[in-house]
Amino acid sequence: MEHKIIAINAGSSSLKFQLFSMPAEVSVCQGLIERIGLDDAVFTLKFREQKISQTLPVTNHQQAVDLLLSSLVQHGVVTSLQEIEGVGHRVAHGGEFFPDSAIIDENTITRIAQLNDLAPLHNPVNLTGIKAFRTALPDAKAVAVFDTSFHQTMAKMDYIYPIPYSYYEKYGIRRYGFHGTSHKYVAHRYAELVDTPIEQLNLITCHLGNGSSICAIEGGKSIHTSMGFTPLAGVMMGTRCGDIDPSILPFLADKEHQTVEALNQMMNSQSGLLGVSGLSHDFRDILAAAPQNERAQLALDMFVERIRAYVGQYLVKLGKVDAIIFTGGIGENSADVREKVCRNLEMLGISICDEENHSGSTIFSASRSSIALAVIPTNEELMIAQDVMRVEKR
Ligand code: AMP
Repeated sequence: MEHKIIAINAGSSSLKFQLFSMPAEVSVCQGLIERIGLDDAVFTLKFREQKISQTLPVTNHQQAVDLLLSSLVQHGVVTSLQEIEGVGHRVAHGGEFFPDSAIIDENTITRIAQLNDLAPLHNPVNLTGIKAFRTALPDAKAVAVFDTSFHQTMAKMDYIYPIPYSYYEKYGIRRYGFHGTSHKYVAHRYAELVDTPIEQLNLITCHLGNGSSICAIEGGKSIHTSMGFTPLAGVMMGTRCGDIDPSILPFLADKEHQTVEALNQMMNSQSGLLGVSGLSHDFRDILAAAPQNERAQLALDMFVERIRAYVGQYLVKLGKVDAIIFTGGIGENSADVREKVCRNLEMLGISICDEENHSGSTIFSASRSSIALAVIPTNEELMIAQDVMRVEKR
């Protein structure tokens, strides 16, 4: 029997969606409403090889949801809204409350709101999306899918920071990790691909995009990931610094008389590839400029080196690794980065096949490599739809 499930990703001024026919996992349509809150919001809907784009005033997320749903009926994507049986919402932070996706009820909503402090830019706006859909589709099964859940299997020694323990107890300061939906999705896809139970595989997954994180997965469970208390930690990213010496902050606060907010903004929005190159946060721009621009080359080298450092750490942590998987806008599309990350690692049993890497093959390790190298496009929306089908009330 066919079930129509919609996956939702609500941002502060945007709403992304994709409608699936399950369990066939066929994408029926997808779209985006941008500039919510403005008179010239933009609504884009793609279905059956058509693309419709419309500029119109959209005051708030409730209006955006109503617009999206009425358009689905108007364009015949669904005959009635009753057809949409399930709604899956991407939610940034599930804290320690949510080791798995959860059916949305009053209790779930209260818990998500209690985590607002840990994800002030994301959880409140995710909740706005959840509430708007509860009003518009009150009978649909609604599920929250958290970016953090997959990493709740980390051991305590890996998630506690070496600062006074009372901060963990008082404020929940610990490593949470993010991009969980993506790491989990590509790990499971790889297991399907090689026809091996996930419980028998140890994997390192590299989600490389504007935000990037690396994950060590043992038998299907995340045992470590590079992001931390927030998505600022770990590898260097488009505009985020990743791991730096924390003493830089009090030093700069003193020297430049900067506020906490200004320093936070510097680390999140003016650092990473942009900060080092002074050119762009976009990886394609960095790649294009690197041959003739020293700072772009430096940014590129640093980006790669920091990924390699995590890969090295996770090889040690996992002991035995079956595959290293690349995903995200950069990981999926840049053969150059994959080559740079994997080169000269023969002594660790990692050998790349240049030809397969450049031709876009899913597996691009050389036949002599004891660790497989793979590119797997992520599909967080599909993972969300799968969770709507899977998750039942606890
Ligand atoms: P994401 O956040 O996963 O959408 O990834 C966005 C990043 O992927 C940006 O930095 C893009 O420059 C990068 N990207 C997209 N396509 C390519 C490509 N063909 N080669 C290199 N980087 C790419």
